[in-house]
Amino acid sequence: MTVEANEHALSETVRIARDLIRIDTSNRGGGDAEPERPAADYVAAFLRDLGLDPEIIESAPGRASVVARVTGSDPALPALVLHGHLDVVPADAANWTVDPFAGEIRDGMLWGRGAVDMKDMDAMILTAIAELLRAGERPRRDVILAFFADEENGGIFGAHHLVTHRPELFAGAGTAISEVGGYSIDIEGTRAYLVQTGEKSLDWIRLRARGTAAHGSRVWHDNAVTRLAEAIAALGRHEWPLALCDTTRELVDAIAAILGEDPKEVAPEELVLRLGKGGGFIQASLRNTSNPTVLTAGYKHNVIPDTAEALVDVRSLPSEQANVLAEVQRIVGEDIEVETVHSDIGLEVPFAGELVEAMTASLTRHDPEARVLPYLLSGGTDNKALSRLGIVGYGFAPLRLPADLDFPGMFHGVDERVPLDALDFGHRVLVDLLRTY
Ligand SMILES: [Zn+2]
Repeated sequence: MTVEANEHALSETVRIARDLIRIDTSNRGGGDAEPERPAADYVAAFLRDLGLDPEIIESAPGRASVVARVTGSDPALPALVLHGHLDVVPADAANWTVDPFAGEIRDGMLWGRGAVDMKDMDAMILTAIAELLRAGERPRRDVILAFFADEENGGIFGAHHLVTHRPELFAGAGTAISEVGGYSIDIEGTRAYLVQTGEKSLDWIRLRARGTAAHGSRVWHDNAVTRLAEAIAALGRHEWPLALCDTTRELVDAIAAILGEDPKEVAPEELVLRLGKGGGFIQASLRNTSNPTVLTAGYKHNVIPDTAEALVDVRSLPSEQANVLAEVQRIVGEDIEVETVHSDIGLEVPFAGELVEAMTASLTRHDPEARVLPYLLSGGTDNKALSRLGIVGYGFAPLRLPADLDFPGMFHGVDERVPLDALDFGHRVLVDLLRTY
């Protein structure tokens, strides 16, 4: 097949996702990033061609987000925010089968950093709204399209910036949908779509042990490295107990029903781990976690340093954030200083109501066998920022996926790739949702 013939066979959703992957928007964190501006310009140009009036907002040079409002046929209804992020986590090309920023198409899939998280959904949002507007249709309610910078570093230069400085852009919004939900997993032969109805809270903390500096040859018990090592080992080995919230209880019960098990007889973790590749992702939603990730101490082999530091990634169930931090201090002991580097809230919203019914109906119209289940995300999304405006957010980037594809494992992983037909499926489901919600 010639390249040109290939090109014509690709849907607009696939082409846009590929174009966005080719714009490197790697976010290395802490304000160090390839600017989102070129991707924002691309998105804004597409929206302008649809007759919309997008605004590009830069929170810092190059750190650009795009927002546009589509007026609905019944503007009295609360608006829907359809949002995606333009940045991606960095990719080390040496670990990949393909160039992570080439947007290569291979084996019926689009490969590259952002194919899963989340230039796929950015493209689906753009072509879904395009299909309506080009047909001369309007969504029922106002739809606010938002493409944020900096999601991969907590949204400081993106969603949080806009919510703080430009809240009027989201005036009248009641609900939001975005990433890390809506994709299908295989439950022993049953295809189930996971709608994200909650997110764990996040606390990135620094532990600091202090001691007294001394020559490395001394008999010395006031050693910051030893003290920190004991604390970090205790925290890293801590077994947080199983803790379910409404979302995970409903999910576990539904999985049990699909598997023909009695949820009172089989432990939740055991049920979830039977889901195969998707199971590990859900496993992390069943309890709090505290993983040490970075250690720093000392500067010379024969000098005992007076401080030692560690970074720990703490993720708590939405209602348990304060309790978990108190427990962390208890585990590491009072002589270890615990400092918060970055923190964000958890969320849990009902798996019920008009939007959930509309999402479920749109999915089942396009996949009649589909089961639709709620789940709790162990990470976070820009819905945390939007919740500060009272906006109720869901994870719903609909993708019908092959049973053997480890989709959850590709978020921030190597060889991110998404089936081309899944992108077109997601486009159709979003068009349906925009017409019905
Ligand atoms: Zn993401």
